[in-house]
Amino acid sequence: MPENIKSYWQNYIGGRWVDGVKGGRISVENPASGMPLAKIARAEREDVDKAVNAARDCVQARTLVDMRPSERGGLVTGIGRALADMGDEAAQVLCLENGKSISLARGEIEDAVRYFEYYGGLADKIEGRYIPLGANLVGYAAPVPYGVSAQIVPWNNPVEIAARSLSAALAAGNAVVIKSPELTPLILCLLAEACERAGAPEGAVNVICGYGEDAGAHLAAHPDVDQVVFTGSIETGKSVMRSTCERVVPCVLELGGKSAAIVYSDADLDQLVESVRWGIFPNAGQACNGMSRLIVHRSIHDEAVDRVADMAKGLSVGPGIEDCELTPVASAGQLDRVEGYCLAGTGEGATPVIGGKRLSDMAGHFMPATVFTGVESSMRIAREEIFGPVLAVTTFEEPEQAVSYANCTKYGLAAGVFSKDVDKALWTADRLEAGQVYVNDWYTGGVETPFGGMKESGLGREKGQEAINNYVQSKYVGIRSKSIFQRA
Ligand code: NAD
Repeated sequence: MPENIKSYWQNYIGGRWVDGVKGGRISVENPASGMPLAKIARAEREDVDKAVNAARDCVQARTLVDMRPSERGGLVTGIGRALADMGDEAAQVLCLENGKSISLARGEIEDAVRYFEYYGGLADKIEGRYIPLGANLVGYAAPVPYGVSAQIVPWNNPVEIAARSLSAALAAGNAVVIKSPELTPLILCLLAEACERAGAPEGAVNVICGYGEDAGAHLAAHPDVDQVVFTGSIETGKSVMRSTCERVVPCVLELGGKSAAIVYSDADLDQLVESVRWGIFPNAGQACNGMSRLIVHRSIHDEAVDRVADMAKGLSVGPGIEDCELTPVASAGQLDRVEGYCLAGTGEGATPVIGGKRLSDMAGHFMPATVFTGVESSMRIAREEIFGPVLAVTTFEEPEQAVSYANCTKYGLAAGVFSKDVDKALWTADRLEAGQVYVNDWYTGGVETPFGGMKESGLGREKGQEAINNYVQSKYVGIRSKSIFQRA
């Protein structure tokens, strides 16, 4: 482990690096060793108030809205460039606090940079419309920013998720308060530093780290916040929504998933195995849209399971900093949760073909790649999000049966289809209850494609051009004019 990581980090409020008002600190751990990594200033209610006030001052001063949009776009792309310049330092910090492999951490930084490029480029293309109203009356509808955007971020892909909301919100002219996750806050301090280096105006970006039930809840319910973006679990999302509902402010919810891939008998199994490798095992399966269930046609079930299990057995296991493929889960609590689900799966009659129990001979929080067969839709491992490197496999005979099994949970984030028959794939995609459907590969999307959940997986869409709608509202202005638009 590199020892040069800073031992103490601060919050970023109103363009300044600050301690918590009460002087508290939060310890950040390295999940690969279970040892302390650093400390960060703990933001409590008073610090949330300070951050929201700083953002409000920026909104009142009209600093962002009075910029020419192309200039605001330049600021947003500049943040991306500053983050890219931190490249390897940032990837190391993310790898050490989150546990993911250094390659994956580098990829996450690159994805974060892409958001700043994409929304920086969109900033001067957010346009309203002129509405013809006959003689002497002219009307226009302008997309105006909400004002203060509060953004609550989870720990699994912290910088990618913070970047996707921050970049779009800023491009549209909002000031932002980010509540970083208590398990992995350090990378968002580097994001704040990138904002500072790019010349973000005072109060335009504020980044604080506090506990969810305290700082997070206070931020979501804050009377001076105009819009909330929450990414995290369904349970917390519902409580955030109750707070925003009370104050009639919009909220975007990006919540959990239990995504299934349907594998038809004509599927390309090489492609399937690579998709499983990429879909469920990186970052120890801690991906909201991870491929956590496989629904395989009975005729190819045994071959598909053998090949997936062989691939999974071959994954290198160890610390992310050594660029291993199977890295630790993020915390001791997360390890208990994942193993608990596996024990429940065995208890309910599913068969662990590989894995199923923690790797107790390793120092950190390691769970092996786990593949269950004989999974039925009534089992908890089929219905609930595990958020670990666990794949639940079941079989089907008829397409309708596969679709019904895929749709049997409260989630609706992602789903997939593997088949060489385009008509069959489209028939299936049409019936899957998911915000995104991947065909013949997993994660077939990008910064440019809308992302979000159906059912309890969320509300609204981030990414793509759609996301801009989260950060602007329409303001209509009607003008009575005797001279300008008068009929001849
Ligand atoms: P979580 O809901 O426990 O926490 C998410 C964030 O909310 C953290 O910053 C936390 O401090 C904060 N928080 C906790 N309690 C709060 C409260 N009462 N009020 C306000 N904020 C509060 O989720 P997690 O364990 O950090 O993340 C894992 C979950 O996130 C999984 O369900 C995963 O699927 C989901 N997720 C979804 C997406 C997506 O884009 N749909 C992306 C990543 C993760």
